[in-house]
Amino acid sequence: MNINYIHPADQLVMFMQRIYDKGMTTTSGGNLSIMDEDGNIWITPAGVDKGTLNRNDIVCVKADGTVTGMHRPSSELPFHAAVYKMRPDLKAVLHAHPPALVSFSIVRKSPDLNLLTSVQKMCPELKIATYAVPGSEKLGENIGKCFAENCDMVLLENHGVCIGAKDMYTAFQRFETLEYTANLEILAKRIGTPRALDEHAYMLSQTNNHTKMDDFIPSSHSVEELAARRDMITLIRRSYKQGLFTASHGTYSVRLSDGSFIITPFGQDRAYLEEDDLVRVKAGMKEMGKIPSRAVTLHDKIYAYNPEISAILLAHPVHAMAFAVTDTKFDPRTIPESYILLRDVKRISYEEYYSQQDQIAEYFGEATPAAMVENNCVIVTGNTLLQAFDRLEVMESTAHSIINAAAIGDIVHISKEEVDDLKEAFHLVDE
Ligand SMILES: [Zn+2]
Repeated sequence: MNINYIHPADQLVMFMQRIYDKGMTTTSGGNLSIMDEDGNIWITPAGVDKGTLNRNDIVCVKADGTVTGMHRPSSELPFHAAVYKMRPDLKAVLHAHPPALVSFSIVRKSPDLNLLTSVQKMCPELKIATYAVPGSEKLGENIGKCFAENCDMVLLENHGVCIGAKDMYTAFQRFETLEYTANLEILAKRIGTPRALDEHAYMLSQTNNHTKMDDFIPSSHSVEELAARRDMITLIRRSYKQGLFTASHGTYSVRLSDGSFIITPFGQDRAYLEEDDLVRVKAGMKEMGKIPSRAVTLHDKIYAYNPEISAILLAHPVHAMAFAVTDTKFDPRTIPESYILLRDVKRISYEEYYSQQDQIAEYFGEATPAAMVENNCVIVTGNTLLQAFDRLEVMESTAHSIINAAAIGDIVHISKEEVDDLKEAFHLVDE
C-alpha cells in the first residue's frame, strides 16, 4: 500500500484507529495532522471519540486560518502549526499519550534509544520539551524550539510525545518504535540492567546482502505455495495485532517441498501485507522485482542445515526481548508447556549473529528449536508454520509470566528429575 495515494482525512482515520486499537491513546487523548501540498492542515477534531472516528470528523484548517468541517480542530492545533512553521520539510505530526512514554515523561527522562539497532535507525534522537499548559502558545514554543534543532521527536514533560515526519506512516513507525523501546526498557529494568549497543555494533548491522541477490521469474505458483502465502499472511497479521511484530520489523519464512522458501519483504508495513508482497527465494535467487527481509541469508542457511525445519520466525516480542537486552537468563522450565515447546533456549551474542551464521544455523534442531539474539531478536523454528508460531507465542507468554512473577515471589523452576519425567512422557529427544 502506498500511503501517498490516500486522502489526508482517510490517513488520519486509519492511523488514529491503529493507535487506539493498540492501546496507545485514549478516546479523548492524542491528535494527528497532515499538511497537504497547498499548505492546509488536516487535523483530528476536539472532543470526538477516537475509537469511532470517520473521515467526516476530520477538520481542515486552511493556510489563511479558515476552518472547514463539522467539529472544532484539536485544542493542540497551536503546536502542530508551530512544528510546520519551524520545519517546512515535515508534512505529518503525531501527538499522543502512550503509557510507557508517559512513564518517561512523568519522571522527565528520555528512554535509551540504543537497546536495539532497529530502534536507533528509526529513532536516532529524542529531545525533551519543558512543561507548559496543554493547548497554549507557550507549549507550541517549547516544542517548536526542539524541532528547530532538527530533532523530529520530542517528549513533552508530564504530558506525552510529539513526532514529526515527511508522511504519517513514517511518523507512526517512529511513534510505535519509540513506545516499544520505552516499554522494553521498563520491563528490562524489572529483571536486570539493560545493555546498550555501541558504534561497533551498528557497523556490524550494516549488511545489505538481501538487496544483492540475483532475480528469477517464477513460471507458475503451485497450490502448496499459494497455501503457504495465505497461512503466512494470516499469522503475520495476527502477530502484528499481538505485538509480536512492529510495523516494519519481523521476518517469517516457510519452506516449500522443492527446497525454495517464501519470506516476508524488506521494509514494508506488516499490518497491510498481502499474499503477493511475500518473496519467493530459490537457489539463492529472489523473485524478480521484490526485496526479501534482511535476515534472508540466515533463513537460507538454517534450512540448508536442517531438512526437518519448514518454518522460521524472527521477531521482537517485548517481554522476551527484555531478557535479550539484559544478562538475565531466560529459563523456560516454568510450566511443562514452556519447556516442552522451547527446551533450552540458546543465547547468541550480537557479534556472533553477524559473524557466525553457519554455526548459528547448525545449532537449530528438534531439541533446540528456539534462540535469543542479544539486543536483536528471538528466532524460533518448527516443522510447520503453526508449530513455530505456537513456540513464539509460548516464548512471549513465558517471559511475561517470569517478569510478573518477580513482583510476587521467588520462582520455583521444574527440577532436573521433573524435566527427565517430561522428556520420557512426551518422547522429547535429547540435545
Ligand atoms: Zn496531549
